[in-house]
Amino acid sequence: MFILEKIKKMSDRKVRVRFAPSPTGPLHIGGVRTALYNYLFARKHGGDFIFRIEDTDSNRFVEGAEEYILESFRWLGVEFDEGVTFGGEHGPYRQSERREIYKKYVKLLLDSGKAYIAFDTPAELDEKRAAIENFQYDASTRMQMRNSLTLTPEEVDELIKSGHQYVVRFKIEPGQKVVVNDLIRGVVTIDSSILDDKVLYKSADELPTYHLANIVDDHLMEVSHVIRGEEWLPSAPLHVLLYRAFGWEDTMPQFAHLSLLLKPEGNGKLSKRDGDRLGFPVFPLEWHDPKSGAVSSGFRESGYLPEAVINFLALLGWNPGDDVELMSMDDLIAKFDLVKCSKAGARFDYKKMIWFNHEYILRTPDSEIAQMFMPIVEAHGVEVEMSLLEKIVSLMKGRVNFVHELWDACSFYFIAPTEYDEKTRKKRWKEDSAQKMSELVTLLESLDDFSIENQDACVHKWIEEKGYSMGEIMNAFRLALVGEGKGPQMFDISGLIGKEETLARLHRAISVLG
Ligand code: GLU
Repeated sequence: MFILEKIKKMSDRKVRVRFAPSPTGPLHIGGVRTALYNYLFARKHGGDFIFRIEDTDSNRFVEGAEEYILESFRWLGVEFDEGVTFGGEHGPYRQSERREIYKKYVKLLLDSGKAYIAFDTPAELDEKRAAIENFQYDASTRMQMRNSLTLTPEEVDELIKSGHQYVVRFKIEPGQKVVVNDLIRGVVTIDSSILDDKVLYKSADELPTYHLANIVDDHLMEVSHVIRGEEWLPSAPLHVLLYRAFGWEDTMPQFAHLSLLLKPEGNGKLSKRDGDRLGFPVFPLEWHDPKSGAVSSGFRESGYLPEAVINFLALLGWNPGDDVELMSMDDLIAKFDLVKCSKAGARFDYKKMIWFNHEYILRTPDSEIAQMFMPIVEAHGVEVEMSLLEKIVSLMKGRVNFVHELWDACSFYFIAPTEYDEKTRKKRWKEDSAQKMSELVTLLESLDDFSIENQDACVHKWIEEKGYSMGEIMNAFRLALVGEGKGPQMFDISGLIGKEETLARLHRAISVLG
């Protein structure tokens, strides 16, 4: 086929991408970013996004991991079109349910001489490794091993019949040029001689290995682009050779290997330990390890808003090339461009992530923040009307990075001070403060209209008439109502806690502070 026709055929193809995790534990934040980029790419191009479970390694299977992954994406608003639990025409989408399919393709390779059966036991392989320096199972050694290339067909049949376990290995011809054309990294060329004869299938569990299952499924599921983490780049040449062996080169997906997520300091790969050390989660949701019982923190439980996590992650390794930082999912979809992804690793700047959360708290309607805050208030044994909580939230949310921080920032709205901060008291409660606060009590008591505006007007008038200083009155008033020197505008406090409570707190401060 002419190269132009080939390119045309590629670009005519419907975009179909997949996220294909192995259910080996909680989803690391790097995996979340991979899935997000796949999702943005699919949506941008009107394509399909597939959720496939790669569970052919039964030793590493972890109970609950699949459900955890699905729940993570539900929370984040990343939606699949097809796959495990979503259905579709290319199922089943769980690899452990596709055994018969893989067997057929393994046989195809065996019959065409592109793979062979190997009986070497782990002990025999160890022996070879000890005897031959830098031993690799490949063209240079395979004829010294116990496999269908060195045994007669009768011997092979006999071994299989007598129950010997075997693996199927890919017979890699040395000296071939293998080209991986990566949308992010450009062209990577290697010589096939450096590759080993990878195991494609194991008789012991009647399952293929990752490589074979991954290639067969991407082909059968008509995947057009493989967008995945950099750690899979070394497997790409082998995958190209597998496509070649099956004769599927014309429909081979386009590769795009994403850069690594780096430690906040920029040196080395981000790990869970960095999160523990610096106090941020690396998993979307809290994870309870079913074996050890250990609990790892999650973004959701730590108080991150999903929109903030998405926005932050989208910009780790990609940027739209303008100065806009705050983007909704729709903005991201509109702007996303795989080719603009960076080759260099992306530093996990968790302080920036906290900044994003703050920004999204500001942009989320007060009513929604109040809904999230209500259970926290109730857990402190406080009963409050939702409408009042909304008002408090609107006054206070600009001061916090997380919803749970609202409690410390505004508990004084619900709970009268029983103690007065010593430092503030020394600075702000003067000889004559009690006297002046008593006058303020008389004034406030006389107000029928206790609205913020009316209090503001009347108190200001009184301060002016008396020739008092604004600062001394407001400072003492604040100490009486809050117990310390923080909080919003005074009448935003007295107005919301109401006349009765305001007067009670003033009376108490006068008698305690004197
Ligand atoms: N199962 C692999 C993983 O856990 C998939 C890699 C790929 O996308 O090809 O990431």
